[in-house]
Amino acid sequence: MTVIHAKQALTPLGWQDNVAVHVDAAGRIAAVGPQDGAADCAVDLLLPAAVNLHSHAFQRAMSGLTEMRGPDPSDSFWTWRRLMYRYLDRLTPDDIEAIAAQVFLEMLEAGYAGVAEFHYLHHDVGGKAYGNPGELSERIVAAAEGVGIGLTLLPVLYQWGGCDARPLQGGQQRFGTTPEQYLRLHEAATRAVSAGPADYVIGAAPHSLRAVDEAGMSAVRRLGGPMHMHLAEQVAEVEEVLAHKGARPTQWLLDNHDVDARWCLIHCTQMTADETRALAATGAVAGLCPITESSLGDGIFNGVDYLGHQGRIGFGSDSNVHIAYFDELKTLEYSQRLRDRSRAALATAAQSTGRVLVEAAALGGAQAAGRAGGAIAAGQWADLVGVSTDNAWLCNRKGDTVLDSLVFGGHGQACVQDVWSAGRHVVKDGQHAKRAETAARFQSVVERLGQDI
Ligand code: ZN
Repeated sequence: MTVIHAKQALTPLGWQDNVAVHVDAAGRIAAVGPQDGAADCAVDLLLPAAVNLHSHAFQRAMSGLTEMRGPDPSDSFWTWRRLMYRYLDRLTPDDIEAIAAQVFLEMLEAGYAGVAEFHYLHHDVGGKAYGNPGELSERIVAAAEGVGIGLTLLPVLYQWGGCDARPLQGGQQRFGTTPEQYLRLHEAATRAVSAGPADYVIGAAPHSLRAVDEAGMSAVRRLGGPMHMHLAEQVAEVEEVLAHKGARPTQWLLDNHDVDARWCLIHCTQMTADETRALAATGAVAGLCPITESSLGDGIFNGVDYLGHQGRIGFGSDSNVHIAYFDELKTLEYSQRLRDRSRAALATAAQSTGRVLVEAAALGGAQAAGRAGGAIAAGQWADLVGVSTDNAWLCNRKGDTVLDSLVFGGHGQACVQDVWSAGRHVVKDGQHAKRAETAARFQSVVERLGQDI
């Protein structure tokens, strides 16, 4: 049993002072109560740690390299897509594992306890199948286990290059499977996850309505676990689905599939007011990636309306251009303020903006990951973040104002002292023990890849 003492903790009962959290050998919270006896670890502030609910780990290698304008200024995706395909012509399984390890370590240091990896890189260069269909799934599991992050692995079905069922081309061929091949790959990924720690979860992911047909959707839907799908990110995507299926993607999905709390819909930036309310009513999680959505110029989520209708949200770092948990929350809130010319857009009468966002992120992330977590309560995985408040940024503030200072003050990450993932104490004194070696391996991979890009 490990005992953590916190001067203040955010629990399902609200703020509690001088709390002892007991963590059992399996990594679950055994009890939460008053301090009585010695502690193994003491923190100023203890929060439930969120799961990062959407990541494409390999894209971290491209961070900072896609800010040039292409030949057609209206094609804003051009430099991003071009670079991604060049990387896809080069990445080896060792490279992918090294990049994923760095990404996952950065997530832990940012205060995330877990990640839902939307894993669509399945094959060798040119789409050639590996002898072991689980090759790259095993690399993701190995990277996660190596740094101790909680993992929900989401093998992705990616069939087509668009709604017109055009074949995948170039780098995309590394993603593609038929539904039958996908089911074999999913079996191999399930074996890899089962061989990992007890908190690891297998889910499934049809890539998007553009990339998966009805036969594909029904093959994936038969699988258990969390189900993630890209929903409505860009205007062109909405127009393509509308032209081919006769309805916008959110409307079409809700009309044709039983969307419920098992689902997490990624990028809900293009929804009408009716779609926003209808999706909120399903209990599904809207998987928001505000930093990446800003980077790609996708648009603004209807957060005020969605939360106003009890919609559930969680946060993901998606392209991993910048892994920063508190900044994701801030970016969502600021997008609402800029659009509406308002302040405290997502706050309620009872709770401040930071409080609303931190609790929603923890609960929504755990739900989306199929992970028993998201709250400091007995029976949950000990997914915890310990924050130092004794500094010039937080000035030992208490209650909701300390969360507002973490989210909006710009130095939240520097205050993260300890992170536990299912009881694994992976960040101590603000650092992961493998930071230097993991970064060195990552840097050598990216420098090699960068030489002739
Ligand atoms: Zn994505």
